[in-house]
Amino acid sequence: MKERPRSGAPFADPATIARPSDDDRFMREALEEGRLAADHGDVPIGAAIVRDGAVVARAGNRREVDADPTAHAEVIAIREAARSLGRWRLSDCTLYVTVEPCAMCAGAAVLARVALVVFGAPDEKAGAVRSVAELLDATWMNHRPRWRFYPQLRGEIEQVLSEFFATQRRGRSEAD
Ligand code: ZN
Repeated sequence: MKERPRSGAPFADPATIARPSDDDRFMREALEEGRLAADHGDVPIGAAIVRDGAVVARAGNRREVDADPTAHAEVIAIREAARSLGRWRLSDCTLYVTVEPCAMCAGAAVLARVALVVFGAPDEKAGAVRSVAELLDATWMNHRPRWRFYPQLRGEIEQVLSEFFATQRRGRSEAD
């Protein structure tokens, strides 16, 4: 990942936004959602949306089970959070996600006015926060969520992913 100064400013009262000391707890919630996604054959990526110290929505990736190319964990969690709060602006919310968001999900976080995005593992191929693009720092965006990388669970997150892909490969070779 490239190292560049972070930018973006929260629009909300900082008291409602998750603090670094919250990261372990909420990243574990996101990881649990990721594990559940693997049960229905989806790449195990999970997300949780947090407001004022509480989870308001959580979701795992559902692209395969729903046959929906947009059913990434972050997009589903953003929709559910908006529904449960009764508003589309999530400017007092933090999005936790196990893997660095893609361009669609980073865009959705901008559109939802998410205050902060926290991710647990970089995605060198498609990550649009740091790895291949820096959408959350783009000066042309009308809103710039803050973001941070929380690396302490990276090993666990990547292990869940590599076990999933290994199982898929085994399944494919048995089918041949
Ligand atoms: Zn995505």
